[in-house]
Amino acid sequence: MTSAAVSPASPLADLDQHALRAVHAEISAAYDELKAAGLKLDLTRGKPGSDQLDLSNDLLHLPDGEFRDAAGTDLRNYGGATGLPELRAIFANALRVPVSQLLALGNASLTVMHDVIVQALLHGVPGSERPWGSRQISFLAPVPGYDRHFSIAERYGIRLIPVPLNDDGPDVEAVAALLATDDSIKGMWCVPVYSNPTGAVYSEEVVRALVSLPAADDFRLFWDNAYAVHHLSDERPAPIDVLSLAAEAGNPDRPLIFASTSKVTYPGAGVAFVGGSEANVEWIVRNMAVQSIGPDKLNQLRHVRLLRDEQGLEAHMEKHRAILEPKFAAVAGAFERRLAPYGAGTWTSPKGGYFVSLDVLDGCAKRAIELAAQAGIAVTPAGATFPYGDDPRDANIRIAPTFPPLAELETALDGLCTAILLAETESLLAARD
Ligand code: PMP
Repeated sequence: MTSAAVSPASPLADLDQHALRAVHAEISAAYDELKAAGLKLDLTRGKPGSDQLDLSNDLLHLPDGEFRDAAGTDLRNYGGATGLPELRAIFANALRVPVSQLLALGNASLTVMHDVIVQALLHGVPGSERPWGSRQISFLAPVPGYDRHFSIAERYGIRLIPVPLNDDGPDVEAVAALLATDDSIKGMWCVPVYSNPTGAVYSEEVVRALVSLPAADDFRLFWDNAYAVHHLSDERPAPIDVLSLAAEAGNPDRPLIFASTSKVTYPGAGVAFVGGSEANVEWIVRNMAVQSIGPDKLNQLRHVRLLRDEQGLEAHMEKHRAILEPKFAAVAGAFERRLAPYGAGTWTSPKGGYFVSLDVLDGCAKRAIELAAQAGIAVTPAGATFPYGDDPRDANIRIAPTFPPLAELETALDGLCTAILLAETESLLAARD
């Protein structure tokens, strides 16, 4: 493992020219050593590690010849468009959606989000006077956020308007001001629990505001609860019943809730969920009826047999936590050791989810990621956490620590810190020249 032994350290920005040059020289030497090591490491995407995938290997032989649900229906055949009630029951409480209003569908929640948007563009949603696609529309995008959310909107010409994401959720004043003045806003991306990438958890106060602010009747919160059960500590947020809060506020149709087992069992071979008001669910079922004669109910049965019940789900997620906690501790440890002494960045300490959000000095994220790439360490591209790939401060870096084995992760983090310190010392020296 390469590690620049520079001490004692003080914030880079406070160093005089001489001291800054000395740190730069030392970090450059460490970087040369790093490059010579010929690493090939990947911190780009939030994928479970293979030891996490092993936790669900019973899926590979389940359902052990069974093919009927509790009602005795033959699941090998067509039908059952709303998904297996037993599986919906396992997730209903964690998602705070009644089983009757929670559908279990295909293998990816992103597909469901995409389809809801395309259907809304073509036909409108309940409450729409006309299809969304009949005019230029916009979505609010809390930033930093999830690049694949932004890609769906970008693909269909939906204008993305960034709003700041605070520790307790999107900045309500900014959201309220935009909704009050811009009637082209039809949607908002929300990851309410352990948000990607900051780990922010929306507070009840923020959720109450989001469901009650004045907005168009066909304004929708795309409530992507991808990490509802993905805890990394004992400090757990109480699940928020966004549907009831929205109904109380007189806007029952506002939230559309999405989730999946991608990071519970197997990404790509799991089950996606969507929930909402009765009107929204009926609209989704109607849209689906022309696309599919039913989901993969045998995969859903496999999941029921693996997870068994809500307690089984919780126990399964504890096993994920045991694998992931040391990886998140490694991120905090590396940044504390390598970046903190130089005031070289600020980062989040998520209590769950899959990511850490790191802000380096303004103007340095792109260069740091480029330097890391040249040393064989792949990091999510700079700007990915902002609509149109445009981070106005060029400061945010998304860290995805779950996939590499711990030792590789530690090497990659140390190398990334060297790249960051080099980018920052370069940038500070250039600004003073
Ligand atoms: N939503 C969020 C917030 C995610 O981080 C991810 C995966 N990175 C997804 C959705 C993708 O979910 P799925 O596999 O169900 O499409």
